[in-house]
Amino acid sequence: MLMRIGGKETMGIDETWIEVKNPATGELIDRVPAGTKEDVTNAVDAAETAFDGWAKKPTRDRGMILYHAAGKVRDQYKDLARHLTIEQGKPLKESMDEVRGFANILEFYAGISASQNGEAIRLGTAGDCIVVRQPLGVCGAIIPWNMPAIIMGWKIGPALLAGNTLVLKPASSTPLTNLRLGQILEEGGLPPGVLNIVTGSGESVGTAMVKHPGIRKLSFTGDRETGSRIRELAGASSKDITLELGGSDPMIVMADADIDKSVEGALRGRFYNAGQTCSAVKRLYIHEKIASVFTKKLRERVESLTVGNGLGSRIDIGPMNSAEQRDKISRRIEETRENRDGTILTGGHSLKGTVYEKGYFYRPTLVSGVLPGSGLVTDEIFGPVLPVMTVPDLDAAIREANNSRFGLGASVWTKDLSTAKRVFNEVKAGIIWVNRHLSVPPEVPFGGMNDSGMGRENGQHAPEWYSQTKTLYLGW
Ligand code: NAD
Repeated sequence: MLMRIGGKETMGIDETWIEVKNPATGELIDRVPAGTKEDVTNAVDAAETAFDGWAKKPTRDRGMILYHAAGKVRDQYKDLARHLTIEQGKPLKESMDEVRGFANILEFYAGISASQNGEAIRLGTAGDCIVVRQPLGVCGAIIPWNMPAIIMGWKIGPALLAGNTLVLKPASSTPLTNLRLGQILEEGGLPPGVLNIVTGSGESVGTAMVKHPGIRKLSFTGDRETGSRIRELAGASSKDITLELGGSDPMIVMADADIDKSVEGALRGRFYNAGQTCSAVKRLYIHEKIASVFTKKLRERVESLTVGNGLGSRIDIGPMNSAEQRDKISRRIEETRENRDGTILTGGHSLKGTVYEKGYFYRPTLVSGVLPGSGLVTDEIFGPVLPVMTVPDLDAAIREANNSRFGLGASVWTKDLSTAKRVFNEVKAGIIWVNRHLSVPPEVPFGGMNDSGMGRENGQHAPEWYSQTKTLYLGW
């Protein structure tokens, strides 16, 4: 597929290509242009040209366009989901959820379009003020490969409703779903140039977007280290930057928890999308009274999961997105074996030497007895590996939960309201779930503390983060 600038498919200046492979088979699916700095400039120019017309539309009209475009996505969700599975790897059911999730986000922002009204402030004899919100201009969105459709929705929904135009850069391994969505949105009524998609590497296209003075706000989702680099690169520029980075979410299971429900929560919370989710359960802390029965049940359930090509029926876990990601996980588990800083309870190997030889599969893995300070709990492990730790009480669970540089999400599983309240008040994270993990509806703000980033996405206030106030002061 080609990139999309000003409503047209375009080759890119350099005429070089990036190959996109199916992670289940290693086969080449398609190729996209390896964009350059010049392509970014062309996309920013196209977005600037489209800005006036888009920004001047009443917010309700922009909302209606988003609504109709979301309908077009819904009409084609099965086909889109199939393509998403082929480039990303996740099981078809997860892809269908993700594509419908994308439509949900646009519909949510369409739904609040009539309430974007600004405010009036009365100052008595000093006069009255009317405060309106205006779009920032051209915004940039840089997205990762783990949830390409959902994260595209999180960024474009509020930015477009607020009246901005956009340049979006997909991840190099999953550009096709983003390009298809861009094309469908235009077929659904989004004017040309309002959303431009430039494919290419982080080093060329990503860096050029960070540095481009025409991009007023940049919303980035990805790795912690890339986020730091972007912050440095943006330096003294006045660009507004949102960083949605990694996480190492703890899940705390107390002795009074519903064991079966929490086992299912841990299973979905960790192994959804082959463990490649920012707010997945990445550390499990179980109260010692139930640790043995809980771990036995969890292990049985993990061993019952079917790993395979996401297009197959009854597949629970697809391949990892790339050989690189799979090898990172393999290396980490080999280190655990060598350093004896944990016991592999199940899994701990890739699926090489099977019918899956050419795909990037890794068996879901549980590790117990992880030593304090092990990289398995201090780093973000972005794959199907779950360290399982035992805690004597809630104090210890909260202490361990907070013993992390990250602070994206956390969950507690309990029937006791006071336990839930303590976790909510004391665990440092942007979202605390009680008897749930990993639900991220568009109505709810999402984002983390500490090294998990800065800024938030989603929720009814998100259009404000893509706009600025302008005040009319009436002295009368
Ligand atoms: P990544 O940082 O490697 O890449 C993300 C995007 O940034 C890609 O499009 C990439 O091409 C681009 N990029 C790379 N180098 C760049 C540079 N120097 N300048 C500008 N752009 C650059 O991350 P990834 O491996 O694709 O994604 C996984 C990470 O994303 C995990 O850490 C995960 O937790 C995080 N994530 C966070 C959230 C959230 O909302 N907090 C959601 C999903 C994923």
